[in-house]
Amino acid sequence: MASALTEKLSRLVKQISGQARITESNVADMLREVRMALLEADVALPVVRDFIARVKDKALGQEVMGSLKPGQALVGIVNRELAATMGEGVADLNLATQPPAVILMAGLQGAGKTTTTAKLARHLITKRKKKVLTVSADVYRPAAIEQLKTVSAQAGAEWFPSTPDQKPVDIARAALDYAKKHYFDVLLVDTAGRLAIDEALMREITELHAVLNPVETLFVVDAMQGQDAANTAKAFKEALPLTGIILTKTDGDSRGGAALSVRAITGAPIKFAGTSEKIDGLEVFDAERHAGRILGMGDIVALVEQVAAGVDMAQAQKLAAKVKSGASFDLEDFLSQIQQVKQMGGLSSLLDKLPTQMAAKASEADLSRAEREIARKQGIIHSMTPLERKKPELIKASRKRRIAAGAGVQVQDVNRLLKEFEQMQDMMKKMQGGGLMKLMKRMGG
Ligand code: GDP
Repeated sequence: MASALTEKLSRLVKQISGQARITESNVADMLREVRMALLEADVALPVVRDFIARVKDKALGQEVMGSLKPGQALVGIVNRELAATMGEGVADLNLATQPPAVILMAGLQGAGKTTTTAKLARHLITKRKKKVLTVSADVYRPAAIEQLKTVSAQAGAEWFPSTPDQKPVDIARAALDYAKKHYFDVLLVDTAGRLAIDEALMREITELHAVLNPVETLFVVDAMQGQDAANTAKAFKEALPLTGIILTKTDGDSRGGAALSVRAITGAPIKFAGTSEKIDGLEVFDAERHAGRILGMGDIVALVEQVAAGVDMAQAQKLAAKVKSGASFDLEDFLSQIQQVKQMGGLSSLLDKLPTQMAAKASEADLSRAEREIARKQGIIHSMTPLERKKPELIKASRKRRIAAGAGVQVQDVNRLLKEFEQMQDMMKKMQGGGLMKLMKRMGG
């Protein structure tokens, strides 16, 4: 794993701390690090050059907002520019045509075309309620036709038979004819794989394109391909009017720089990302999330979503209303907060999503200790009577001894919990007036 950009930048930030602006002199060092990070993520060199020039333009002279240091601000600029370059928002499949809408799949052998054809069929059937037909025009590998048959069945799509002795354009015509006669909404056409760019095969797919007149021509590319992805993309773009890209194998350990190269070179939007070998391993491409990955910042967006989903909004609102009304924050409320942390899938699942350099600081041992600590706190509060939970000030020495014995802990553990509770109570008082709700809203989106 390449060392993360944010870590390098924070080192630079230390050197230039105190400066409130991104200037010509401090930006040069930082951009060198960004450039290295992009190259390590396997973004093609010309794409990196272009990108750095754009970031430099945007960054120079920017006031550094609030408490952000120049290094952090630059990471923000780079991240936004990366996301913008890879496409803002989401681009779903275009089916706006007289049915059947034809989707032509193109790409190198092994990129994941056949698997992705079935994944797309599944997506169209389940999410968009379409009637889908698949066909393979790969007459060079008999196994390819059989493979499509198998995965189409898994997807619940009808498969149109073809054989290796047919001509690809004849297969295409026959399938299109059948799709029309039987009122299919979509025809997905898988094509022959190429190990490398090959002129005869390029001609063949161009002919297929002419016969089929597809509404979508999708270039399927392996995210692990790195630098080669750029050359492949260039060749396919020259042969075909690409309308979209599908990036496969994003579950691999590549930093995914291919996305940036392929998008920059073809100009076509990245529509989907393959996330596993399974039939449902396809997600609508999320440029911002992918930008974080290229920069090595971890899946922060996913983390925020998980936190937002884990927070029980009804509970949070109740708590906020209570705080606002001036009612006291009691141990019941404290308990419900502790439980929310657990609902979020535990600390270790949150930690998986953090940038590596942050995650590295917390060892496995730290984690299980933290999780044990949560369980211990719950145990202590559960040993209290309802009255004690409402009025913690009642808890004096003898009650503490009883609670400690009930929870199987020491009296000092009970003291520690009460202390922590008091701090939280203080914080809640300070938040009166809607601060908490604002925080929750931000997390909930
Ligand atoms: P084709 O030659 O382009 O048709 O490629 P295939 O569809 O046969 O896929 C090649 C290999 O990549 C197969 O083993 C697939 O299971 C695997 N594959 C395809 N997409 C993904 C993906 O998104 N993630 C993972 N992990 N494997 C994938």
